[in-house]
Amino acid sequence: MITGVVSDIQYFTIFDGPGVRTTVFLKGCRLNCRWCHNPEGVRHYPEVFHLWPKCSDCGRCDDICPTGAMKVTERKWHEGGVVSRDFPGEREVEFPALKLKDKMIRKIRIDKGLCIGCRQCVEACPEEAFVVSGEIMTVDEVINKIEEERLMYENSGGGITLSGGEPTAQPEFCLALLKAAKEKDINTALDTCGYVKWDILNEMLEYTDIVLFDIKNMDPESHKEFTGVSNELILENARRIIARGGVEIRVRVPVIPKINDSDENMKKTAEFICSLGLKGVDVLPFHPWAGQSYRLLGLEYPFTVGEWYPDENQKRIEEIFSSYGLKPNRLGG
Ligand code: SF4
Ligand code: SF4
Repeated sequence: MITGVVSDIQYFTIFDGPGVRTTVFLKGCRLNCRWCHNPEGVRHYPEVFHLWPKCSDCGRCDDICPTGAMKVTERKWHEGGVVSRDFPGEREVEFPALKLKDKMIRKIRIDKGLCIGCRQCVEACPEEAFVVSGEIMTVDEVINKIEEERLMYENSGGGITLSGGEPTAQPEFCLALLKAAKEKDINTALDTCGYVKWDILNEMLEYTDIVLFDIKNMDPESHKEFTGVSNELILENARRIIARGGVEIRVRVPVIPKINDSDENMKKTAEFICSLGLKGVDVLPFHPWAGQSYRLLGLEYPFTVGEWYPDENQKRIEEIFSSYGLKPNRLGG
């Protein structure tokens, strides 16, 4: 029985391929993008995160953890629901939805090397101050959930999208899910960063209707600096998908301030997409939502929390693509 680690299943998604879809997020990624919007999905195994604003500092988790994985890094007093400056240099942020009372909180780092994923802390916490990212699931379990929305796929032209993390980073599970969905006659989309051996990707394409293919940066050095790997394999795979045929490909360009949003990079990206013979491009505007996740999970966020990307910059990027004859399709934002 093939199993994999799933970080989330989202229903009724409209930006992850044609129609209304169900997106399955597989946990784990080979890249380490500085701006990653799903920081909880990067590692390949189930993880426990401490949601520090909900913590009442009762200490039960510390007492119960069998391995000493809990490291209390900070204690802070909440004043009427406003979080004081817990992170030096960051602005005060309100969490009205959490209905915080005046109380002491603690910020915990969980030592990933010591945590055995027993979830005793999760069960012991009276404030539900832990989140678990990553559930081990069988192919059948995932497909059964997907099938529940079959009518929606049929009415909207949608289907299943495998996303991540990076879905191909769990190659056996990803392939098995694509195969199983096709056996059920469900449309399949693969949302990939493209950093995967061609033989593995090629086999997946047999069972894929549409590939959503990220191009993040055209400069190999810069790509390596900001994602941890060069872009050569990625660009080569995009060319090979086109040469292979038999599958639709949509190139997606995530806009990241000061990392890939220069005119020069966008022009090179447009040239590359044109060289593939494509007529359109999906542009993903930068949004600051991930900043809250980073804060809540106690991780360092490389951008200003809550700061939106200027719309005029976004429009300028879309005009660059248009000037190359590409139809830009803004997704969200
Ligand atoms: S999951 Fe278990 S080992 Fe990991 S931090 Fe919680 S109690 Fe400790
Ligand atoms: S995380 Fe939960 S169990 Fe641990 S100290 Fe905070 S409230 Fe108590």
